[in-house]
Amino acid sequence: MKYQNSLAFAKQQDKEDSLAYLRDKFHIPKVKSEVLRRTEWLYFTGNSLGLQPKSTKEYINQELEDWANFGVEGHLEAKNPWLNYHELLTSKMAKIVGAKPIEVVVMNTLTTNLHLLMVSFYRPTKIKYKIVIESDAFPSDRYAVESQLKFHGFSAEDIIQWKPRENEELLNIEDLEKIVETQGDEIALLLIGGVNYYTGQFLDLKRIAAIGHSKDCVVGIDLAHGAGNVQPNLHDSNVDFAAWCTYKYLNSGPGSLAGLFVHEKHSKNKDLPRFAGWWNHNKETRFNMRQPFDVMAGAEGWQLSNPPILSMAAIKASLDLFDEVGMDALREKSEKLTGYFEFLIREIDSEYIKIITPSNPKERGCQISIQVKNADKSLHTKLTEQYIITDWREPNVLRCAPVPMYTSFEDVYRMVAILKGFLLV
Ligand SMILES: *Cc1c(COP(=O)(O)O)cnc(C)c1O
Repeated sequence: MKYQNSLAFAKQQDKEDSLAYLRDKFHIPKVKSEVLRRTEWLYFTGNSLGLQPKSTKEYINQELEDWANFGVEGHLEAKNPWLNYHELLTSKMAKIVGAKPIEVVVMNTLTTNLHLLMVSFYRPTKIKYKIVIESDAFPSDRYAVESQLKFHGFSAEDIIQWKPRENEELLNIEDLEKIVETQGDEIALLLIGGVNYYTGQFLDLKRIAAIGHSKDCVVGIDLAHGAGNVQPNLHDSNVDFAAWCTYKYLNSGPGSLAGLFVHEKHSKNKDLPRFAGWWNHNKETRFNMRQPFDVMAGAEGWQLSNPPILSMAAIKASLDLFDEVGMDALREKSEKLTGYFEFLIREIDSEYIKIITPSNPKERGCQISIQVKNADKSLHTKLTEQYIITDWREPNVLRCAPVPMYTSFEDVYRMVAILKGFLLV
């Protein structure tokens, strides 16, 4: 596709965009200043907290009303009975991550799910106990892994870091291959971010699974920055487990519930050690309350508690939108939109900026991470004062996510025009 650096071109792209109508289904925060001629924020942080669908309020209100009208009877009498409410999310969520419904459930929050999954899938022995993570893994994942190691009597020293090469920013899969080839006999688990939160690099999950399995290591993926952003094809990738939050690209509200994936090959394995509660007990006999524990098959077999319906209602509002559009169409727009963003950034004639995200659309989602030499956080502050919301990561990276659900080509054009003004002074 041939891009042009002009507002007219951006507007023409919006006109031709069959998904442009989606923007109006979201609340875009409003500019409260007379000085700017723009009325809406330029929001580039859907990778941190997605915007609110206008339908969310209605979905939550439905549950509030049903609670008011039915009390406890709402478990069966609500328009969407609460007893099985989570099942309304399963197949839509499964499509988003390329899984079978039996492999997916929505529950808890991301770090909690990682711990519950490690209870089952991190089974260290005296010989095989180390865990591989990326050297710039998200802090919560690192802390979770470190605490699991300590819980089993090991230490932070037993983390093996997959690092970018000297003077490089991105991970090279051959280096992971080498780590597993040489140290695989000591490695119990690979826990890797499918899309790195810092660089935006989308890794080849199928290849990571094959590398790990070649030495009998379990492979788990954190998809916080992947779900709703790229198509990870979890089932075909053959990874053992995955988890992701829903408040980033999945627009389900601050601190909303998380997704969990356990590959079908483990779905009937009742011998996997795991924690239990009444919600992973066989639902046919759950309310007899007297049976010996009988674990459910599939991902539902990792649930513990009955889930918060109000939060799930917000997830349902968002997943209904994703289902209407489909990940294929969304990805198609995303590749064009992020390609345009990248093109405009590269047009800025400055030796101080460098894009560290891969250029190949197959190796990234919508996020572009821009390294700005000699800059400090004041650049980010200046952008924020113009109601351009981006994310700053020390020491010098500006993370920007033109999210295809609600970002226009015009937004991208205007954002880069203002950024350019700050960079060239
Ligand atoms: C956002 C994010 C988290 C946050 O974890 P919570 O348990 O939802 O607070 C963890 N890991 C990664 C990789 C993330 O991007």
